[in-house]
Amino acid sequence: MSDQLKERIRQLLPRTIETRRHLHMHPELSDHESETAALVARRLRELGLEPRTGIGGHGVVADIAGRAPGPTIALRADMDALPIQEETGLPYASVNPGVMHACGHDGHTAMMLAVAEILSEEMRTRAGTVRLLFQPAEETVGGAPRMIADGALKGVQTVIALHGWRHLPVGHIGVMAGPSMAGADVFDITVRGHGAHAAYPHQSSDPIVTAARIVTALQTVVSREMDPLDPAVLTVARISGGTAYNIIPDTAHLAGTVRTLSRDVADRIEAAMRRIVEGECVAAGATGEVVYHRGSPPVVNDPAIVELVREAGVLSVGPDAVTDLLRPSMGAEDFAYMLREAPGAMYRLGIGDGAPGHNAGFDFDDRAIPAGIETLCRSALLFVERHSARP
Ligand SMILES: [Zn+2]
Ligand SMILES: [Zn+2]
Repeated sequence: MSDQLKERIRQLLPRTIETRRHLHMHPELSDHESETAALVARRLRELGLEPRTGIGGHGVVADIAGRAPGPTIALRADMDALPIQEETGLPYASVNPGVMHACGHDGHTAMMLAVAEILSEEMRTRAGTVRLLFQPAEETVGGAPRMIADGALKGVQTVIALHGWRHLPVGHIGVMAGPSMAGADVFDITVRGHGAHAAYPHQSSDPIVTAARIVTALQTVVSREMDPLDPAVLTVARISGGTAYNIIPDTAHLAGTVRTLSRDVADRIEAAMRRIVEGECVAAGATGEVVYHRGSPPVVNDPAIVELVREAGVLSVGPDAVTDLLRPSMGAEDFAYMLREAPGAMYRLGIGDGAPGHNAGFDFDDRAIPAGIETLCRSALLFVERHSARP
């Protein structure tokens, strides 16, 4: 089957690249992926599948049923682009001003369409179901939970996704069991003092000074309160307050993000943040308010599914091109929500060292496409074969 599958991928490669570049040229922002979703649904229908549309927004779900009932594996690709003005100068650069596929989701979607075509053929001789999830709104962290709410993962035993990754050679596969990407929360802090003429500070409770103290004090949360072996980031990314040179304002605002690899660490950071804000405000005769928003949880990969993906990777690209990733990323991925519904894994597909993601110069490297298609196909086929009851 190995050579047969590689040959099939070779046949599909030109059209897949064409699809990828078409999507690149016509990117759509999160929750506006209507054209992309329409293209996906049309192509799935051409394969004889019956896609369900409008799942969690513009999401598309299609089941590829085998010849007999059996296990169900879901494969997910994200479809949305970013609010960036493209500066690649490529012939297929975005024609939508201020919108760009700068995270490689064009590649993910195009590869998944090739996977759909191959697995529609391969599943005829196998038991079980492969469910394809084309997800909207990954960048704004909303698509995955909404697809789940719409039942996209009902009856699924495992779910797998890949993401293009710069720090791996093109076409290499990177796998990691356990926490591999961070959970991401955001916070808003309001300091309420009372304002005065800037020449008479003794008549005020200056929220600017208190906010500055809070920024400094928050630096000790990770460095002094967290176990050094628990990775964590607390970044104050925005500070604002005041309107003029000579007015001490009533309020000041801080906002930022917290990244951790476990919910427990995030809980401790939130508690420390509340304590510090309250303490600094009491000391200054001000009041503080912390609004802490839970974002996407950490990406936690199931060890058994990671082994399956590794096996699929070795079969696809050879053992030398499969890497055990030793360091998690503090970036976030809303696929994490799907991993809470079913054990599964996100793995990384090497796209070499071009411009970084979320950058105006980024482009998905088409040379990675065959490895992406083959590892997704093989992961799905290995799973249904292993988990089908033997006659
Ligand atoms: Zn992204
Ligand atoms: Zn992405």
